[in-house]
Amino acid sequence: VDANIVPINGKNPGELNVIVLLYDITEIRRLEKVRTDFVANASHELRTPVTALKGFAETLLDGAKEDKEILEQFLEIMLKESIRLDSIVNDILELSRVEQKQVPLKSEDVRVKDAVESTFKLVRQKAESKHMELIVIEEDEMTIQTDLNRLKQVLANLINNAIVYTQENGKVTVKIYREHEFAVIEVKDNGIGIPEDEQDRIFERFYRVDKARSRNSGGTGLGLSIVKYLVENLHGTISVSSKLGLGTTFTVKLPSQLI
Ligand code: ADP
Repeated sequence: VDANIVPINGKNPGELNVIVLLYDITEIRRLEKVRTDFVANASHELRTPVTALKGFAETLLDGAKEDKEILEQFLEIMLKESIRLDSIVNDILELSRVEQKQVPLKSEDVRVKDAVESTFKLVRQKAESKHMELIVIEEDEMTIQTDLNRLKQVLANLINNAIVYTQENGKVTVKIYREHEFAVIEVKDNGIGIPEDEQDRIFERFYRVDKARSRNSGGTGLGLSIVKYLVENLHGTISVSSKLGLGTTFTVKLPSQLI
């Protein structure tokens, strides 16, 4: 708490009154911390691929480039690290756009099932390479007014995660139903799950349960923070429930109209 003390003269001679102003700055401090943590984390995340790029380039210039096999191997690693750098930068930019609500929203009639099916197309190859099944169940036919591309971005993130964090031969089931004036979309997998005490942290920037696993699959740790802002931009809510070793369900609720 910050305080200001202002002395004022009282009614009677010699009498001195004071006004004490107390400011609750907990929220301001918290936001400051979120910001400084973000800069520190972002720098750390960016430094990893940059250090690798620098190291491999130096080693090549020091003579390793003479060996054609090593040259090729190093260039491949450098390409991979550049792609990683690119996706971190893209995700940071995207996060700052959605956080500042800079995304202009379209309002279109969207049948939720169609949005799910066109998102499946984007990830089908990845799912097939892990022999995973993608299923959509439309319990209620839901056509809502929303921004199709933003909705697809949300679905792509959640379905992609469901594939990444599930073992081979697993399945992802997307269920669509009505709840009052809301369309509910559940993205459920039967994968590795999330420990209970970490479930509310996964929406934080750069938070990952298993850093190595996330990195190996190309994750930046920013996907769910972006998803959370996107869903808020669409005036909806998102929640998670999960059992370690059994699977995870993300539940998105969207209003049937965008206003
Ligand atoms: P990442 O790029 O690491 O996937 P996200 O923000 O998308 O970042 O997710 C944050 C973390 O939440 C992941 O690193 C992972 O540990 C966990 N997570 C997300 N989705 C799932 C899921 N379907 N099953 C298990 N863990 C998940």
